[in-house]
Amino acid sequence: MLNVGGRTAYTADHEQFRETVRKLFERELVPNLDRWEHEGIVDRDFWLKCGEAGLLCPQVPEQYGGLGLDFGYAAIVDEELWYSGSTAGLPLHTDIAADYLVDYASEELKQAWLPKMVSGEAIAAIAMTEPGAGSDLQGVRTSARRDGNHYVINGSKTYITNGQNADIVIVVAKTDPTLGAKGISLILVEADREGFKRGRNLDKIGQHSADTSELFFEDVRVPITNCIGAEGQGFAYLMNQLPQERLSVAIGAQAVARRLRSPVGVNFDGR
Ligand SMILES: Cc1cc2nc3c(=O)[nH]c(=O)nc-3n(C[C@H](O)[C@H](O)[C@H](O)COP(=O)(O)OP(=O)(O)OC[C@H]3O[C@@H](n4cnc5c(N)ncnc54)[C@H](O)[C@@H]3O)c2cc1C
Repeated sequence: MLNVGGRTAYTADHEQFRETVRKLFERELVPNLDRWEHEGIVDRDFWLKCGEAGLLCPQVPEQYGGLGLDFGYAAIVDEELWYSGSTAGLPLHTDIAADYLVDYASEELKQAWLPKMVSGEAIAAIAMTEPGAGSDLQGVRTSARRDGNHYVINGSKTYITNGQNADIVIVVAKTDPTLGAKGISLILVEADREGFKRGRNLDKIGQHSADTSELFFEDVRVPITNCIGAEGQGFAYLMNQLPQERLSVAIGAQAVARRLRSPVGVNFDGR
């Protein structure tokens, strides 16, 4: 086993959880790793197995089906994923997408989606980046126009992790293009909405099994109750949550660097 001793960030309970994660990954992930990296996507069945073992969204409160645990548990899943050599989009689902629902969504949206995200029945994506807007999120052009009790969403996104597998997408859209950052909202779009289309699963130099994709929205109608939190507050929510996203990316980067520097890089159990 890879020696991860000497760190004080984790408790004995965390390390016990790590053993559960390792056993599951050894059994369900490692035998499929090469195929998933080749196919550019992870089997949905693997998500269900992760959900069953408590690996997805462990921070979600118990009333929504989660375990109500701290971020350390999610960090362990991230580390073990990268130590194993996988680039599956679990961290995007757990560390990034879920907390927008936990922290800001209505009770109705939480009840509808969090239990399924915990079980792996629903896979989440977040769609910020566009062909013309990356680091500068104020530049997004995807629009969500009010029409009665609905939004009508138009635009395109790119580089969206879990784009092929996603059942729900948190879409960063302009609800008022005249207001700059204050005109940005987060809107939950279910993948079976008419007008939602998945584009290419992008061919990248790494993270092959993360199904990083283009997404298209053509007059997609969703009820205004699909707005996560308050209309016009999306940019503020992103600024609040992006530090955790960066932490998650840093944990992954550290873990993969460690894997590549270590003999474990060629032998999962480190012997
Ligand atoms: C594998 C992968 C997965 C991804 N998953 C997702 C996802 O799930 N959802 C999503 O929304 N997006 C996702 N992205 C997109 C990612 O968030 C963007 O690539 C990122 O925001 C940078 O945007 P950009 O690529 O347009 O680069 P740009 O914004 O064009 O930046 C290019 C370079 O210029 C620098 N730069 C930009 N602005 C400034 C400035 N003002 N001052 C100085 N330097 C600057 C940047 O640091 C960078 O080095 C993913 C990308 C990859 C590669």
